[in-house]
Amino acid sequence: MTHQVTAHWTCAPCEVEGQDPEHEPSCWNCGGPVTVTARPVVPRAHAASHAEAA
Ligand SMILES: [Zn+2]
Repeated sequence: MTHQVTAHWTCAPCEVEGQDPEHEPSCWNCGGPVTVTARPVVPRAHAASHAEAA
């Protein structure tokens, strides 16, 4: 695996949001369940290390 899934979440009662590289993140404020809003796949390796000469 060369990528990781980071969950973007929001906690409505606390009105906070965060990101966690976990499948089921929990609120860092209340420790309760959160609503995951996005799960973008973040590449771990730097694939674009070469400058593109146009
Ligand atoms: Zn919370």
